[in-house]
Amino acid sequence: MIIWGSGGGLCIAGDAGVRDCPICQSAQRFDFSVSYRYAHIWYVFSWVTRRKYLAICSRCHNGVAITKQAFQASVTRDPIPVMRRRGWLMIPAIVALVLVAGALQERQQGDPALVANYHRAVMQAIQTHWLRPDNTPASPCKVRVTLQRGGYVTGVDVEPDCPYDEAGRRSVVEAVRRADPLPYKGYEQAFHPSMVLTFVSMPDASHP
Ligand SMILES: [Zn+2]
Repeated sequence: MIIWGSGGGLCIAGDAGVRDCPICQSAQRFDFSVSYRYAHIWYVFSWVTRRKYLAICSRCHNGVAITKQAFQASVTRDPIPVMRRRGWLMIPAIVALVLVAGALQERQQGDPALVANYHRAVMQAIQTHWLRPDNTPASPCKVRVTLQRGGYVTGVDVEPDCPYDEAGRRSVVEAVRRADPLPYKGYEQAFHPSMVLTFVSMPDASHP
C-alpha cells in the first residue's frame, strides 16, 4: 500500500530591497520568497513539484512574481528545506523514476509478507520497463492489470482519472506489456487475477 500526498509551503529567502509596491503605491521593503508544492510517498520520499518565485511587500504582503533568474542572482542558498527536496534520496533502493504499488484487491489472500514480496517483485519487473515521457506530471496514475496464472497479462487498462496525456498513458501500458509475463513462480499463494498498480513519476525538480 502506498500513502501518497502533497503539500505546499512558502519560504522567505532574503532581503529583496526597496521596490515600488503597486498595492501600497509607495516604495516598500520587499523579501524574496519561494512558494512551492511538494509531493510525498509514505511521508518519507518527498520532492518538489512546482516553484514560484516572488518578492513580497513587507507592509501589505502582496506578492509580485519575479523570474527565476532574478531570484537566483540574489539568493544563492535554496530556501526550501532539504528534506522536502531530497527526502527520497534517503532510501537508495528507489532509484528509478517510478514506483509501482501493488494495490490491494477486493479480497486479500495469503500471507501478508508473501503478498508484499509479490507486489515488490511485480513493481520491480515493471519499473525497469517504464520509459517515462519527460512531461509526465508528478501525480499518480492507476492502471488495472488482469492476469492469468503463470503471470500472463491479459489486460491493461488505464483508469479514467489518470492525469497523464496520451503518450504518458501509452508508456505505462507498454511498461506492463514489456514486463509480461509478470513474476509468478514462488508467489502462487499471493496471486490474484486482477491488480491495480499505481505509477508515480519523480521528476528531478530538486534543483531551483
Ligand atoms: Zn505593499
